[in-house]
Amino acid sequence: MSKVRVRFAPSPTGGLHLGGVRTALYNYLFAKKNNGDFVLRIEDTDQTRYVEGAEQYIIDCLNWCGISSDEGPQNPGEYGPYRQSERKNIYRDYAEQLVKSGHAYYAFDTPEEIESLRDKLKAEGKYNVQYNYQNRTEMRNSLSLPEEETQALLKINFPHVIRIKMPRNESVHFKDMIRGDIEMQTDGVDDKVLMKADGMPTYHLAVVVDDYLMEITHSFRGEEWLPSAPVHVLLWKYFGWESQMPHWAHLPLILKPDGNGKLSKRDGERLGFPVFAMEWNDPVKGKVPGFKELGFLPEAFINLLALLGWNDGTEQEIFSLEEMVEKFSIERIHSHGAKFDFEKAKWFNHEWIKKSNVERLRPGVKKIFEENHIAINDENKLDKIIELIKERCTLLTDFLQQGSFFFLAPSEIDTSVVLPKWNENKNQFFVELIRAYSLINSWDINDIEHTFKELAAAARLKPGELMLPFRVMLVGGKFGPGVFDIASLLGKEETIKRIEHTLSLMK
Ligand code: GLU
Repeated sequence: MSKVRVRFAPSPTGGLHLGGVRTALYNYLFAKKNNGDFVLRIEDTDQTRYVEGAEQYIIDCLNWCGISSDEGPQNPGEYGPYRQSERKNIYRDYAEQLVKSGHAYYAFDTPEEIESLRDKLKAEGKYNVQYNYQNRTEMRNSLSLPEEETQALLKINFPHVIRIKMPRNESVHFKDMIRGDIEMQTDGVDDKVLMKADGMPTYHLAVVVDDYLMEITHSFRGEEWLPSAPVHVLLWKYFGWESQMPHWAHLPLILKPDGNGKLSKRDGERLGFPVFAMEWNDPVKGKVPGFKELGFLPEAFINLLALLGWNDGTEQEIFSLEEMVEKFSIERIHSHGAKFDFEKAKWFNHEWIKKSNVERLRPGVKKIFEENHIAINDENKLDKIIELIKERCTLLTDFLQQGSFFFLAPSEIDTSVVLPKWNENKNQFFVELIRAYSLINSWDINDIEHTFKELAAAARLKPGELMLPFRVMLVGGKFGPGVFDIASLLGKEETIKRIEHTLSLMK
């Protein structure tokens, strides 16, 4: 068997939707599982939709996810170029070959003529307004015009496209690795343009030619491409390459959490979560948020994406990339769409934060602190804090909320939590505590706790009733890890300072 080669073939038109990342991921998993190559091909033949910076952004997203390609525009292998715009000259000959064999034709219709065909069909009450076998002979193309006229038009380079001549009443069969045998009728498909007037191929031609030339063996793509499959299968056949046609897998859609249909960027905006892997800075619309910036670990992000459409047949939900490579199989990809659930996505991230060691979390947490103007001079202290609060953090950004008080005294103390049960005895207890703490030599957690409890007993107060005010003094509110852990990390001086400060507010 020839070497497995798969490709992720995005169009550089904007942010990378999580469905796109999942397609890339399944490609990657399949390639790695089978010791194959994962190719990145940039499908930029639609110049009107091209967006500056989008290619680099896609590559950055794949790198962040840890699923970089083996071959691509920035790391070319032997099958380049990897941008379709740079392969422009390849396609025309292939399209001409189809014209010669009678499977395609030149069409010289002007945009106005196409428009009037649409109007005419609409006026006839047809809702299926397509350029197809029913009307192609009435249009201006090499099938309807005398040969000399066609040649004359070509000679003067009259603007034209090349269209596939879709056969009438044929059924096209192929085997989808997820959906099994698929049969589709050609009648519903129009005579798709293969070469555009600007000399660029369309997606339909380019995808077939490139999959062939790049020796792609398996082709994973979104379900939305299924209606185009008959065109592609016919092209493989017309070129005489049928035996090399890749095995297809049309991946189920990622659905919106409510209602039906594909999860869109608008759903994310409406429901308050990102749909892009990383923040996309759109040249026109500005910044669109991403999972990375929200505080997702890439391990969690790819894990949750993998599980939106696949499982290993057990109840297991947490998988590392290596484990996924090991366990991945096409048979276990579902054929139905999976609803995206943001709460579940956050659950994955929480699990991954808990599972990750301090070394893994440190750079990201440090960055978030520094971006919020909290300088980290003591990494050792940061490590202890991470270990202490990671259980409480669902997103990396939560480390800021859960941990900034270790570095900065709280700007506000929520005394309202404490005031209702505050009395002179408690006040006296904390005055004593300051004195006792200032005498402690070793600022050890056991001593801190022991001293606290001993004083409470002497004052005949329940430690439980004193712990909440103590916490509020140290962190500003009713949250955070164990209060003695906090005091131990804050250090003696800072702990005393914070008790004093709150006592002054309580007067
Ligand atoms: N360029 C197509 C896209 O943007 C790729 C479809 C395919 O993989 O065949 O999704």
